[in-house]
Amino acid sequence: MRPTVYCYDPLFLEHNLPGHPENRGRLERIVRTLGDEGLLARMILVPPKPVDLKLLAKVHQQPYITALKHYAERGGGHVDADTYVASRSYDAALLAAGGAAELVRAVVSGAARNGIGLLRPPGHHATYERGMGFCLFNNIAVAARTALDGDVGAGLRPAPTRVLIVDWDVHHGNGTEDIFYESPEVLFFSTHQYPFYPGSGDWRETGAGAGQGYTVNVPLPAGVGDAGFRRVYAEILTPLARRFRPDLILVSAGYDAHWNDPLAGLRLSLAGYWELARTVVALAEELCEGRLVVLLEGGYNLKVLSAGVADCCRALLGDSAPGPDPFGPSTWLERGVDDLIHTVRQSHGL
Ligand SMILES: [Zn+2]
Repeated sequence: MRPTVYCYDPLFLEHNLPGHPENRGRLERIVRTLGDEGLLARMILVPPKPVDLKLLAKVHQQPYITALKHYAERGGGHVDADTYVASRSYDAALLAAGGAAELVRAVVSGAARNGIGLLRPPGHHATYERGMGFCLFNNIAVAARTALDGDVGAGLRPAPTRVLIVDWDVHHGNGTEDIFYESPEVLFFSTHQYPFYPGSGDWRETGAGAGQGYTVNVPLPAGVGDAGFRRVYAEILTPLARRFRPDLILVSAGYDAHWNDPLAGLRLSLAGYWELARTVVALAEELCEGRLVVLLEGGYNLKVLSAGVADCCRALLGDSAPGPDPFGPSTWLERGVDDLIHTVRQSHGL
């Protein structure tokens, strides 16, 4: 059996602003939990390298990359109200994007079955032109670009031509959508609270030009939880993935859609997150020989975050049960999603 791999480096902790919700303590807690629960020992470390700057320049415009470098060299500050840059943030962001690329190379070359990036700064809000929403470089876009460009080292198999990105962070992955909006090679599927930060992600955003139909947004009202997500994954994502036939599946994994997250209002439980992870693992097994790379995005209740990432590792490793759930299910009555599912299915010909 090919191994499950993970990517981590202590430099990811050097991007830090004490008191900010997206601080180094998030990743420290994850790594401690995965160590304590014996999960790191069951996976193989893929050490990250800084991303190739030519590859990065296919995902972000050069003036933004250069400006970020100079900003960090001068000691940093804020690129917008939410998004900070510390003196090592540029280097950490290069390494996070490079780690995403290394995980894709490991999986596409056949050396690994699947993998998880324990990375920060996160990436899915970073657009072609700028960082925002705690994100500097779009790691998942770099991962997709790495696969599509065939820059996977071994060259043992044809380069992937179709990449499915699943984004289960509570916020819309506007940056990822922006970067691939006109691309038919990348199918971007996002569930998110709506209306909510960053404001985009209406179901009417479906791609443009050759990419028309390859952006699929499922904007969920606050209060949707396990039952709603189960239906969205069964009735939209699964048929969509089977029709698209990806060569590789990537996940933007945020744990801020949990009912106990302090920043948002969706109501997933850890059991619900486990089902999402199991579903994408099963789709990867069915459609692309298991090739799946998961990258960390948001999640701000550290106990939820670390337990959710641990369960995701268990799903990647093929375990049949999640770890203990200290929180249990949401006790709220869920909002229905019938009309939304009907609308999204209809607009995408499902
Ligand atoms: Zn988020």
